Amino acid sequence: MKNVVVIGAGIVGVSTAIWLQRKGVDVVLLDKKGPASGTSYGNAGVLAAASVVPVTVPGLIGKAPVMLFDKRQPLFLNWTYLPRLLPWLPRYLAHCNPKQVNRIATALAPILRDCLADHRALSKGTGAEKYISPADYVYAYKSKDHFDKDIFAWDVRQQHGFEWTEHDAESYRRYDPAFGKEVGYAACVHNHGRISDPGEYVKTLAAHFENSGGQIVQAEFQDFVIRDKAVCAITTTDSTIDCDATVVATGAWSKALLRKLGLNIPMESERGYHIELYEPTVMPAMPTMIAAGKFVMTPMEGRLRMAGMVEFAGLEAKANKQPLEFLRRYLGELMPDLSWTESREWLGHRPAPSDSVPLIGQLPVARGVFVGFGHQHVGLSGGAKTGEVLSQLICGEETGLNMQMYSPMRFRLAL
Ligand SMILES: Cc1cc2nc3c(=O)[nH]c(=O)nc-3n(C[C@H](O)[C@H](O)[C@H](O)COP(=O)(O)OP(=O)(O)OC[C@H]3O[C@@H](n4cnc5c(N)ncnc54)[C@H](O)[C@@H]3O)c2cc1C
Repeated sequence: MKNVVVIGAGIVGVSTAIWLQRKGVDVVLLDKKGPASGTSYGNAGVLAAASVVPVTVPGLIGKAPVMLFDKRQPLFLNWTYLPRLLPWLPRYLAHCNPKQVNRIATALAPILRDCLADHRALSKGTGAEKYISPADYVYAYKSKDHFDKDIFAWDVRQQHGFEWTEHDAESYRRYDPAFGKEVGYAACVHNHGRISDPGEYVKTLAAHFENSGGQIVQAEFQDFVIRDKAVCAITTTDSTIDCDATVVATGAWSKALLRKLGLNIPMESERGYHIELYEPTVMPAMPTMIAAGKFVMTPMEGRLRMAGMVEFAGLEAKANKQPLEFLRRYLGELMPDLSWTESREWLGHRPAPSDSVPLIGQLPVARGVFVGFGHQHVGLSGGAKTGEVLSQLICGEETGLNMQMYSPMRFRLAL
């Protein structure tokens, strides 16, 4: 391959562009709003190697309806969106059983397990290394009983070889004095990492790509140009860009792009939010998942970011106040003495295929059309490896992975 257009400059697209460039390929990186303007900007920054357990665990089907009506639960639905959600929802919920969870964990493990090393390899020599630090990933529970209710997920992590240390309230207080009596039990998973500013990290990687001869184009993708059953160009709002191959790395927006090829991907946006507190008076030592609230508190450059929750309302609806109010209320209970100078809010879109496994590979509909999207809650972590794997596929190299697990054609895709 000589010329590749990568569509989408989030972590997946930028990683793909850099790895292709390192292999001598000419790459154009296209984004409608510029690098790190999508979900890769505002995530919790955790390099979450052990996050192989999807949202769809056994018991969710019983709990979800109750959660939707309880303001103290981190699940939200815009009811007017329900008819549009319906084709996807039963397919998604069909994975709430041990067999499917194990299948999903087996697929996620190879792209997440070494994510700290994968990000170090990606960022080496780019200037973005400075945003990466090794860390534990802490799951903070109200009590040991609360932890025990999550035992299914911990068993899955153990089966995949992940290790952690458990702390009762007293020993956790010594580990991280930032938290008070609301945390009565914690599990600290080792050999993880964090990115201290995900947006700046991806922008720095993209700037390195450009400074090394890559081209970044800010324009909206419009269509694929297919000739003799192979892609030969893509069109944007402004121009036509010739290519031998293209990569769709547009995260939660990818479904719309693939419609142009007559494909219907069962994917939804799992909307999530963050609130950042500048110059906080208390900072957690490590990225910490508040298990009852399903949000993560991560120390970032000059600020504390709290990111998480799940809302179903599609890609177009404006931010909803309720999840943000939930987060602020929860924080007041967790850290009543915390104060800060300024706060900022953000809404993002996790790309969630119905089976929670990213789509990585070539589409059979036209030669040279590759995809890399659908990393749901773990795309920052898995983005570095995914980009490397895509560069190997495009250059005809071995990936060392069983690519069948990520095949886009595992779904029935006809429109
Ligand atoms: C609240 C929250 C917390 C999270 N925390 C973590 C975490 O701690 N760790 C982790 O690993 N993951 C986390 N994630 C998930 C992670 O952020 C995503 O999985 C990941 O960022 C997806 O990256 P991407 O490159 O696929 O997509 P994106 O970053 O969304 O990039 C897609 C790009 O495509 C562009 N685009 C879209 N349509 C077009 C078009 N038509 N033409 C041109 N360009 C287009 C967009 O502008 C965008 O820049 C979190 C997500 C959320 C919402």
